[in-house]
Amino acid sequence: MKIAVAEINIGALLYNVEVVRKLAPTSKILAMIKANAYGHGYLEVAESLTNVDAFGVARLDEAIKLRDAGVKKSIVLLEGFFDKDELMIIAEKQLETVLHNKQQVIDFINADLPQPIKVWLKLDTGMHRIGLAPEEMASCYNQLTQHKNILATPTILTHLACADELEHPLNNQQINLFNQLCLDIEGERSIANSAAIMSLPETHLDWVRPGIMMYGASAMADSDAAEHDLKPVMTLKSSVIAVRDVPKGGSVGYGATWVAKQNTKIAVVAIGYGDGYPRNAGNGTPVLINSIEYPLVGRVSMDMITVDLGQSTEIKVGDEVILWGEGLPIERVARHANSIAYELLCGVTGRVTKQYK
Ligand code: PLP
Repeated sequence: MKIAVAEINIGALLYNVEVVRKLAPTSKILAMIKANAYGHGYLEVAESLTNVDAFGVARLDEAIKLRDAGVKKSIVLLEGFFDKDELMIIAEKQLETVLHNKQQVIDFINADLPQPIKVWLKLDTGMHRIGLAPEEMASCYNQLTQHKNILATPTILTHLACADELEHPLNNQQINLFNQLCLDIEGERSIANSAAIMSLPETHLDWVRPGIMMYGASAMADSDAAEHDLKPVMTLKSSVIAVRDVPKGGSVGYGATWVAKQNTKIAVVAIGYGDGYPRNAGNGTPVLINSIEYPLVGRVSMDMITVDLGQSTEIKVGDEVILWGEGLPIERVARHANSIAYELLCGVTGRVTKQYK
């Protein structure tokens, strides 16, 4: 019986990268594999992604794990370093780092590095999270370009706050400011995350940085991945472990929050928030059992969920259940849980067995 298994379809991953290539044919691909490759497994994903140009991670320990496992491609630290001693490790492991504030630029210039490093200079064009302020850009860039610690002309990047909302005015403001700040810059440029790859071709430039779309989920606020020709990479599966009759008026689960309006059958499925299934998934969240959709009812427990089968007598213990993935778009589940596909994928816990195919 399959209990809490995440099937990872590597063919779908490679297919989705080809979708990126078709959309941005002249750009290089910095594949985002931070947060354990959005829950899909760093090493397996990195080893499989032979058709990308570099990998992006958020933290140094993620990058070290990849290098130490033999990953040879460029690995970019998207948040840079948090402590200047880390620069030594970055140089030794031949990693690349983003510099996103003045202090990082100063630490970088003053470091006595065993070998030069490729850096990416991040600009804040309006998201106001990390990035150099527009007025800091020219002096930082000029100090860096000729410096002995620099391996190549810095690549300039920025991140869009609202790329998943096409009509949002901040998109154009950020793109225009970025272009203006880069007017006299020789280095390569990068703006686009998945949403921008899908819908803002003017942002494709030298490097695109796909994350969620590679994993076959939509980056757009109101559409599912299939509408963008993407295939789900992770299918989260489990099995029915009990089927029981609940009489009219009987409640189900913790807090007795759901009450049967008529005599019904309930399937108990071995998946819960201990596996990363979202506890906020409410009544009516779709669940596929033997390829038929049924509604989740009652509260999600740590190890189990309960599903209303109505009068169906076909479902039995051991039947296969799909929580999201092939046949059930993760975006639909995420909407019912008041969440996003990113959070659901990253939230899959270590208790779930990954099976690569
Ligand atoms: N670029 C940067 C700087 C990011 O922080 C992220 C993800 O958060 C991405 C690209 C990829 O975003 P997405 O998963 O929406 O494609």
